[in-house]
Amino acid sequence: MSVLIFIDINEEGQVKKTSLEVLTYGSKLAQQLGTDAEGVALAPAKEDLAALGKYGIKKVYQVSNGALAHFDAQVYTKALAQVVEQAGATVVVFSNNTDGKALAPRLSVRLKAGLASGATALPETSGDFIVKKSVFSGKAFANIKITTPVKIISLNPNSFSIEAGEGTAEVVPATVTVDAPKIKVTSVQKQKTDVPLAEAERVVSGGRGMKGPENWGILEDLAKALDAALACSRPVADAHWRPHNEHVGQTGGTIAPNLYVAVGISGAIQHLAGVNRSKVIVVINKDPDAPFFKAADYGIVGDLFEVVPKFTEAVKQL
Ligand code: FAD
Repeated sequence: MSVLIFIDINEEGQVKKTSLEVLTYGSKLAQQLGTDAEGVALAPAKEDLAALGKYGIKKVYQVSNGALAHFDAQVYTKALAQVVEQAGATVVVFSNNTDGKALAPRLSVRLKAGLASGATALPETSGDFIVKKSVFSGKAFANIKITTPVKIISLNPNSFSIEAGEGTAEVVPATVTVDAPKIKVTSVQKQKTDVPLAEAERVVSGGRGMKGPENWGILEDLAKALDAALACSRPVADAHWRPHNEHVGQTGGTIAPNLYVAVGISGAIQHLAGVNRSKVIVVINKDPDAPFFKAADYGIVGDLFEVVPKFTEAVKQL
């Protein structure tokens, strides 16, 4: 048994925060199995990958190949399969983020390896290899037994605490043979956000109760006062009031900030699936029976157009 962790690197060459979580998870799993954890980086990194040793991994396979300069699920899968073989890995771990969702199933087919996607905890390994995963929008859990020689797990983002200690990883160059991607990247447009939503400590989120995109100024003011990122419910993104990268929920992003302020959002189960791991939830809604209040730590019943500006002023006084 050895554990190989996919290190997700963004277009700026930085390791994504979700990878730090997966590195911690993979290292703990390797300890549990009495083996070493190793990482694989396919994209060019501007960070010192040896420093990732502090999350518990012993080695990083760094692949340098022009065909991997931009994320391409097909090319990355082929490259990963070769590294899995070179490393002799028997467990491969991804984050269940956008890249992981594209790679894990493809690698599973290529390696004929059982996959448990959306894991929320370390697997049970004392007898059978059983992975606990979240199902039905976080309303239930399923235990998935993987019986294939190679096993693949994708970990739900924000479900495992990052732990850093001491240590340096050995960085080992790895060679793969892959074709050029069939998709050519001609330009990359960076999202206009200071903090990526998935990594934000505080989030202010708006729903259909906001009535229209022209009203978002009050949420932007509150977000600025709280140093928070902006999010929204799905109908808001579907109506093009806000960009789709801000949509959270079952079909959008999964977040777990310290503070989630939900404004004019009813709290449907599909929305909660993406935010119910937030540490503190504040709900502002004019309907006292809105389902979101059941999940809230603090609730304000009132018209958001009156409450939010007052809330912002109060935060500014702090
Ligand atoms: P609404 O349900 O219309 O709620 C608006 C709320 O604003 C109400 O509670 C109302 O009381 C309040 N309000 C109105 N005016 C004011 C005011 N002036 N002041 C204060 N409060 C006010 N949804 C997601 O968000 N994310 C997902 O990922 C997602 N995935 C889905 C997947 C599937 C398969 C399906 C079927 C649905 C999915 N949905 C998702 C949609 C989900 O079921 C809800 O329809 C949606 O979350 C509702 O969005 P909302 O709360 O913004 O709007």
